[in-house]
Amino acid sequence: MTKHIFVTGGVVSSLGKGLTAASIALLLQRRGYNVRLQKLDPYLNVDPGTMSPFQHGEVYVTQDGAETDLDLGHYERFAGIECTRTSNHTSGGIYSRVISRERAGGYLGKTVQVIPHITDEIKAAIRSHIAKDTDILITEIGGTVGDIESLPFLEAIRQFRQEIGVENGIFMHITLVPYIKAAGELKTKPSQQSVGLLRTIGISPDMLICRCEHSLTQEHKDKMALFCNVPKHLVIEEKDVANTIYEVPLDLARQDTDVYVLEHLKLHVQSLNLRDWRKMVRTLVTPRNGEIEIAVVGKYIGLQDSYKSIYEALTHGGVANSVGVKVRMVESEEIESQGAATMLKGVSGVLVPGGFGDRGIEGKIEAVKYARKRGIPFFGICLGMQCAVMEFGRNVCRLPKANSTEFDEDTAHPVIDLIESQRTVKAKGGTMRLGGYPCKFTPGTRSRKLYGNASVDESHRHRYEFNNAYRERYESKGMVFSGLSPDGELVEIVEIPDHPWFVACQFHPEFRSTPLKSHPLFKDFVRASLAEQKKRNAKPSARSAKK
Ligand code: GLN
Repeated sequence: MTKHIFVTGGVVSSLGKGLTAASIALLLQRRGYNVRLQKLDPYLNVDPGTMSPFQHGEVYVTQDGAETDLDLGHYERFAGIECTRTSNHTSGGIYSRVISRERAGGYLGKTVQVIPHITDEIKAAIRSHIAKDTDILITEIGGTVGDIESLPFLEAIRQFRQEIGVENGIFMHITLVPYIKAAGELKTKPSQQSVGLLRTIGISPDMLICRCEHSLTQEHKDKMALFCNVPKHLVIEEKDVANTIYEVPLDLARQDTDVYVLEHLKLHVQSLNLRDWRKMVRTLVTPRNGEIEIAVVGKYIGLQDSYKSIYEALTHGGVANSVGVKVRMVESEEIESQGAATMLKGVSGVLVPGGFGDRGIEGKIEAVKYARKRGIPFFGICLGMQCAVMEFGRNVCRLPKANSTEFDEDTAHPVIDLIESQRTVKAKGGTMRLGGYPCKFTPGTRSRKLYGNASVDESHRHRYEFNNAYRERYESKGMVFSGLSPDGELVEIVEIPDHPWFVACQFHPEFRSTPLKSHPLFKDFVRASLAEQKKRNAKPSARSAKK
């Protein structure tokens, strides 16, 4: 029988519930259990695919083509557990299923209500993610206890635990213990109140994970235990980590968090092996090869979460090369106003990530040009590849108006255009080319060598594609199409062999990278950027050479 962990959050949002859930998954997995994770989001969008990155951060794409919450990225990166469509459910999705059923006559004669119909649907959503071999399912409830939207979810997990019994499910509440600087004190009251709220709806947390900036004393823990009705040893501290989020599992393991979870669930406590994880964290904190700076030229730079997987994948590439990767976050519109030379000065690599809409596009194209002409390693992803194609068209293929029809429908040279199947699509939700599609490599190319395979399945999220009418022209000017769909129709990767490192792909490799196994493209991009920096350092500048 599958055991359950229900994760709720109190006091404020952004506590890192996803990171905590993912860390616990890693620990349980390393104790020999088969773990799955899922996130239930209380908002009314059917999925986050229609939300701006400024609202919601990155949209994480699963291999089976679902647009999901970015916490799923943590689940995959920490525990290496592949997420699927059933890993993320929203109120929007739950309600739309119930309402469609009602219209189809599925509840004939009945009044359709939040309890039991919506809560039944939520419980079904939880069950839908249990596979045959799942020992433990971790279900994270998005939002904060006290939000109106999350009530049906909390009621559903209350019922769920009631049905399976206490020893088959554990309520883990993640809460904030703020430090009041003026008083020089940590305060437990907000947590007491948040647990109080949970108890009014019938959930009494079994374990508290306390997010804090300063360590809790035993006195704090005793107080929390008393007021929140939790055994003292189940008040766990989760202090801000010193260096990297990948320290969180080590911190939780030090306090035997996973052992207590297993004890509650009456599961055997097998030994824990985190040797590779510790080694990875050590490399991350003290890399042998110093630090390099890579520019990420984006259009949603203001929000840290917008390019979450990109930043993480760069960090993973750093681990693989034992070098720290400092990211210079460059707003592409600032390149338009201040020039690429000013904004990108000194970086050892340039990455242009995905995005939508025409704001900032010219700045991205300038960034490509800067990297291409100066021989600085360049990595383009999705929109970044499309910008690389536009730049090459304008400045190498003599197509001065080369553009994507996303930005100029009537351009004279639509080098990026909609594919036929997208032309008739009107609805916005879930209608892009989504999820894993195979890409076949062209023999003899850098990509083929890096992947070490003849083909790969990578995740997609886009509508526009390279326009095949221009393939020959591009090839004759030195661009190589190194990855194509198996029928040869869709361009998946382009390269410029006559450049130290210029690779751009239509898919999103950042979703398939983990700290223990960096994605081959990120790994090699970081290697090339490190080589670029070494080359630069070896070259004495004109002034110092004169001395
Ligand atoms: N806007 C582009 C398209 O739809 C690129 C999408 C992306 O970068 N994810 O094709």
